[in-house]
Amino acid sequence: MLLEVKDMRVHYGKIEAIKGISLEVAEGEIVTLIGANGAGKTTTLKTISGLRALTSGTVTFDGADISKMPGHKRVLAGIGQSPEGRGVFPGMTVTENLLMGAYTRTGDLTKDLDEVFELFPRLAERRNQAGGTMSGGEQQMVAIGRALMSKPKVLLLDEPSMGLAPMLVAQIFSIIKTINERGTTVLLVEQNAQQALQLAHRAYVLETGKVVKSAPAADLLNDPQVRAAYLGGE
Ligand code: ATP
Repeated sequence: MLLEVKDMRVHYGKIEAIKGISLEVAEGEIVTLIGANGAGKTTTLKTISGLRALTSGTVTFDGADISKMPGHKRVLAGIGQSPEGRGVFPGMTVTENLLMGAYTRTGDLTKDLDEVFELFPRLAERRNQAGGTMSGGEQQMVAIGRALMSKPKVLLLDEPSMGLAPMLVAQIFSIIKTINERGTTVLLVEQNAQQALQLAHRAYVLETGKVVKSAPAADLLNDPQVRAAYLGGE
């Protein structure tokens, strides 16, 4: 396993947001976490990337226990994150934003920038535009591109489709597929369960800080309970 979370518990003050979650992501997979608002999806990603500390349990990455490793070292170890809300630096250009993702790296980054621009031609066209003036969908592309600039082994994506028009949602999902096909493992958090399950290999369903189901994504698309709760199905 590339990434393994075992019995993870996370608190905000006295409130236990994550109540003993275990999950695994194998190299090459796209795994998605779905669940209602407040189920703990974002907290799970933040704890994997080191933005939140865990109360108990372990996070193992690439064979090493990283449970206590600070976040910046996890980036070096190969964990890249595109955060909820995107976190684009508004006063910096698109190129400068992308280069922030490579903050921990040295050497010639031209080739890596070109790869991001090839994935997102819109960013290439607007490379000198201020991040803050980009549209919501374009800022999402900046956030994903910036995470890719750290050359992650696993890319953590938090709600990449949030607030996007349907056509852009389809485009973002198709780019995630390409990123995965080019060798990056993906852990995807999504409200848009239908599209996430169509894209992912496997999925975990979270409810109030617990995993209530885990299965191949295709199986969950046909699961009556999942259809009723998350897919707007009958
Ligand atoms: P959403 O889809 O709405 O973003 P989520 O599944 O990502 O939800 P989390 O954001 O991880 O859920 O939140 C899990 C629980 O932790 C919720 O009950 C939330 O209110 C709580 N929580 C999250 N962040 C904080 C915080 N900074 N302080 C206190 N409680 C928090």
